[in-house]
Amino acid sequence: MQVILYNTLTRKKEEFQPIEDKKVRIYTCGPTVYSYAHIGNFRSYIFMDNLRRVLEYNGYTLKHVMNITDVGHLESDADEGEDKMEKAARKENKDPYEIAKFYADIFFKDMGRLHIERPEIIAKATEHIPEMIAFVEQLIQNGYAYETSKAIYFDISKLDKYPVLSNRKLDDQIAGARVEVDPEKRSPYDFAVWIKAPINHIMKWESPWGLSYPGWHLECSAMSRKYLGDVFDIHTGGVDHVPTHHENEIAQSKGCTGKIPAKIWMHVEFLQVDGGKMSKSLGNTYTLDQLQEKGIEPLAYKLFCYTAHYRTKLNFTFDSAISSQKALNRLRRAYQEHEEALVIGIPTNEIQDYKKRFLEAVNDDLNMPLAMGIIWEIARKDIKAREWADLLLDFDKVLALDLENSKSYLEEEKKIELPEEIQKWVEERKIARQNKDWEKSDELRDKIIEAGYIVKDTKEGMTVEKG
Ligand code: AMP
Ligand code: ZN
Repeated sequence: MQVILYNTLTRKKEEFQPIEDKKVRIYTCGPTVYSYAHIGNFRSYIFMDNLRRVLEYNGYTLKHVMNITDVGHLESDADEGEDKMEKAARKENKDPYEIAKFYADIFFKDMGRLHIERPEIIAKATEHIPEMIAFVEQLIQNGYAYETSKAIYFDISKLDKYPVLSNRKLDDQIAGARVEVDPEKRSPYDFAVWIKAPINHIMKWESPWGLSYPGWHLECSAMSRKYLGDVFDIHTGGVDHVPTHHENEIAQSKGCTGKIPAKIWMHVEFLQVDGGKMSKSLGNTYTLDQLQEKGIEPLAYKLFCYTAHYRTKLNFTFDSAISSQKALNRLRRAYQEHEEALVIGIPTNEIQDYKKRFLEAVNDDLNMPLAMGIIWEIARKDIKAREWADLLLDFDKVLALDLENSKSYLEEEKKIELPEEIQKWVEERKIARQNKDWEKSDELRDKIIEAGYIVKDTKEGMTVEKG
């Protein structure tokens, strides 16, 4: 079955046809590691994971690059403001590399908690300076870039068309009214590919243009080219990347290689709070830890993301995230009940029909809400059957909700509800059983039962529930 993806470049859904037969080359704009990633950021990486898994489910193998921006992302997406990394370093009185490592480590830990697959290649901007310098040299040689006393700028007047990705209007009047950071710029829309470092700038490198550092857009162009070639299959990012970052990546690649670097450009819409954007600069963000403190697991947040298609805005409220946590628990119980049931010979055509519907949903531009509707139909079956559990597990290759481990999550959930004293006895009894101290184990079991709980010893271990 054909995978269909929406392409921002052509503004329509297209049948996906990889450049190489079964291998898909993807580039994702990764995090700027100057602070904790928030759940809005993670909406975009959950989308990235859905894309990966849908392609894998369809039998493709992936070469996927995600960058880590650890230099060059200024406070605005264009050429204004301080470098976000430097600003954080000054604020926390630390070295920018230390800041980058600290937040990148937490970012990957959080990706793990969300069961997001790690792209095959993780590329840090600071480790690709020579490739970026070569890119700038090529741009200058091709006549697409020029030097001023502040930076090397991309000359958009040399392009046949700009912008190509967004509907952004280049309004000279508005642009003219803006206070320009560099009066030597030929056009207000020219953007910096390489920036000469002011004297107090911490992150800077020797280059043909003196001590300087890369522009954010250049990083992605140089790194995607290095690992994926001049033209690859899919480029992903958030909608905020459309008008500036990705537009400028395309401009640079056209200037360097003459080609638009990716065939399909995919963008995830924003997670909002109270109807507005969730962003670090507005100070209205939440982290996975903050959700967890309110009893919302990372995977419940992922399930919450599946309530909307990636191309629509999604409004975050704690109430709806708590509902997703309850839904996740219900899904786990439903899976477990099917899993513990017998194989009862569900007709294969019924199973095949579900498989077809699921594949149609996820292959239709990753329609996760539709896919979840199918999951709930199966979960809610009155007649419990092992085959349904197997089917849910198969679909979980795409959803990545870790249904396979439902039982242990449910046990954890019950444990959380147990009073501290009972929990202590349960733990002591586990140790007693490990030590084959049956007398102590029985004594503790009696105590737990006396307190009003039901103790069951099964092959997999002990379960304790309120009686
Ligand atoms: P940053 O670390 O700021 O470069 O952002 C990392 C990714 O998160 C980018 O792909 C952004 O487009 C995306 N992003 C930022 N804020 C949100 C949001 N509120 N909802 C969805 N994605 C977002
Ligand atoms: Zn990028």
